Amino acid sequence: KAKEQGRSRCLHFDAEMTEQVTRRLSIEKSIRKGLERDEFQVYYQPRINIFNGRLVGMEALVRWVPEHGAVVSPAEFIPVAEETGLIVALGERVLRLACAQMRIWADRGWGDLRMSVNISARQFQANLTERVAAALRDSGISPDSLELEITETTMMRDIGQTVLLLEQLNGMGLKIAIDDFGTGHSSLYYLKRFPISTLKIDRSFVRDIMKDDGDANIVSTIITMGHNLSLNVVAEGVETDEQLAFLRDKGCVEVQGFYYSRPVPAAEFEDFVLRHRS
Ligand code: C2E
Ligand code: MG
Ligand code: MG
Ligand code: MG
Repeated sequence: KAKEQGRSRCLHFDAEMTEQVTRRLSIEKSIRKGLERDEFQVYYQPRINIFNGRLVGMEALVRWVPEHGAVVSPAEFIPVAEETGLIVALGERVLRLACAQMRIWADRGWGDLRMSVNISARQFQANLTERVAAALRDSGISPDSLELEITETTMMRDIGQTVLLLEQLNGMGLKIAIDDFGTGHSSLYYLKRFPISTLKIDRSFVRDIMKDDGDANIVSTIITMGHNLSLNVVAEGVETDEQLAFLRDKGCVEVQGFYYSRPVPAAEFEDFVLRHRS
């Protein structure tokens, strides 16, 4: 009886695995097609200085917009793109689109804004500096209008390589942000040693600051620590007045979140900028 049960559990498990693998393959195939058909677009989410009310810049966030069908969010395809290595081509596409868009906005007189682009672990390799240099050259934007967001986990994978890459990028005049800060294991030592300019506090801590004292303490500690290290600190995922008031009270200067705007297509972002600046 037990054996039979074991076997049926095993069959069940196999079926699930097969389904997962099939799903993964089908997503992989669609990503390739999406790249060929140019179906990936970039949405932009504003980052605001809550002390002077100024727009600091925007984060470029990829969206998949299939010819027929609804917009697909990155959670659906980024994990598969990462597993299969397709993220390298996809990330390159996003970097190019974001730089080209920044060029248009700089020409429009918005060159003081900073464009942040997410860089995945697989892109964070020796040739990244060349890829970035080429994107800057082709778009003609100034290096200091570009910020690369790299997660804490990616940075801590190979410290030697991280220091080397970050120093090259920093030497080119780019800004570097640690994304999803608080979810990984970076030490104070490396925060000082890496040439970074920004800490982005992960949304998961900001979400519960009003009801979880632990999260509230973590957030205020990160703010103080970041400022003591002369870093910009950005709170991600701000949705409510209460969260905003808390962050302002703790001295957090920059925020990003649905409170101000969801990530939106370029044309809508322009409307936001015009509204915000008037
Ligand atoms: P992330 O880089 O930490 O980006 C922030 C995510 O939080 C975005 O999700 C954004 O829409 C969401 N967000 C911002 N404010 C709020 C808020 O107030 N409430 C809530 N509930 N969510 C908020 P999105 O666009 O779905 O992207 C998810 C993740 O996918 C990103 O997290 C990033 O890790 C990855 N990703 C997105 N675009 C790219 C890309 O071009 N390249 C790479 N490598 N990864 C990307
Ligand atoms: Mg990010
Ligand atoms: Mg983040
Ligand atoms: Mg995240």
